[in-house]
Amino acid sequence: MSAKPNILLIYTGGTIGMIKEFETGALRNFNFEDLLEHIPELRLLDCTIETTSFENPIDSSNMNPKYWMDLAGIIAEHYDEFDGFVVLHGSDTMSYTASAMSFMLENLAKPVIFTGSQLPIGDLRTDAKENLITSIQIAALRKNGRPVIREVGLYFEYKLYRANRTTKLNAEHFEAFASLNYPPIIESGVHLIVNEDYLWVPKSKKKFKIHSTLETNILLLKVFPGLDAETTEYVFNYPKLKGVILESYGSGNLTNEAWLIDQLRELIKKGIPVVNVTQCAGGSVNMGLYETSVKLKKIGVISGKDITSEAALAKMMYLLGQHISGPSFKTLFETSLRGEMQ
Ligand code: ASP
Repeated sequence: MSAKPNILLIYTGGTIGMIKEFETGALRNFNFEDLLEHIPELRLLDCTIETTSFENPIDSSNMNPKYWMDLAGIIAEHYDEFDGFVVLHGSDTMSYTASAMSFMLENLAKPVIFTGSQLPIGDLRTDAKENLITSIQIAALRKNGRPVIREVGLYFEYKLYRANRTTKLNAEHFEAFASLNYPPIIESGVHLIVNEDYLWVPKSKKKFKIHSTLETNILLLKVFPGLDAETTEYVFNYPKLKGVILESYGSGNLTNEAWLIDQLRELIKKGIPVVNVTQCAGGSVNMGLYETSVKLKKIGVISGKDITSEAALAKMMYLLGQHISGPSFKTLFETSLRGEMQ
């Protein structure tokens, strides 16, 4: 390991990597080979930085599990050579990708920090420089000879969050992300304040490995007043369906009309797991608290507790990709594997 931490910057796409053409004013993708030329401040950081990029950087609205596998592959390929990783990603689906990485990268003992920006790096008022510089600094942070962060984090607007606890909440504010069920793990002001008690401490010294098989035939359904039996009957009978996540109301409530309970019972009988997550941005599912969730618990609906929908989706794809089913799926889903739930 070099004396200075060695950080790999991976550009996947998104606003952060764009620069305004001086003459035309149009936004174009920034050439990351020229990074140090455009952000000379990076030379002042006490680490060495290498860069790599998706061959064709994408707007993160085009992100999908195939790209997640590519990204996990890049990190795994370079895992031993680098002390930390910074992933530049569009903000739109950053919480999904970062949540997926938290499951796909098992026994992570180095920082993987996601960041992006609301304004392009070449814009005068950009938030990209602060996000990028501080993310690199965080990825290079060491204490007693080992990295301070040993998990997947998401840094935006002065806060580092546990990535699988985040959601994009604002399309315009520089403070675009929130983590309503878990406090920030680092706050950046004049100093970087590390909230030691909230850091993820790897439970075992097992070797790092990646999981690149994900089951994508799953459904994330937000319930709403007016959702009817015919619609759910149709989608629940999709022949390839392997799992369902229901975004319920409040603390995990759904209409207790018989048709929905009957359809969910049928799904569970067929071996298709049904997970209950709340459509509220904060708080937890607590099945049994209200009459409208008692039956869900009885028929074997799985509690997503305080997990975000983004992390629930990634966790379901990951567990089903491991061919975990039945009672083991329920037990593992209701257990925190990467700090994604209480
Ligand atoms: N649409 C862009 C993306 O997610 C927005 C951003 O970069 O923040 O790629």
